[in-house]
Amino acid sequence: MATLNPQLLAILACPACDDRPPLEWCGAYLVCHQCRRAYPIRDDIPVLLVEEVMPLEQIEPPPPSEPAQG
Ligand SMILES: [Zn+2]
Repeated sequence: MATLNPQLLAILACPACDDRPPLEWCGAYLVCHQCRRAYPIRDDIPVLLVEEVMPLEQIEPPPPSEPAQG
């Protein structure tokens, strides 16, 4: 699990959105809910590069499924 300085998180904004919305810390990613992008956090450093970004759908855990029996 990545760690992140709350003061750093407070000043970060999505570089892909014109109005620079705040990012939400979500595990190993910073998520912009406006454009639904997820920026990876590497070595506790947020990588706010459009080249590194992933669609939010790709990082969300898969929906819970029935546990396999037998
Ligand atoms: Zn955005």
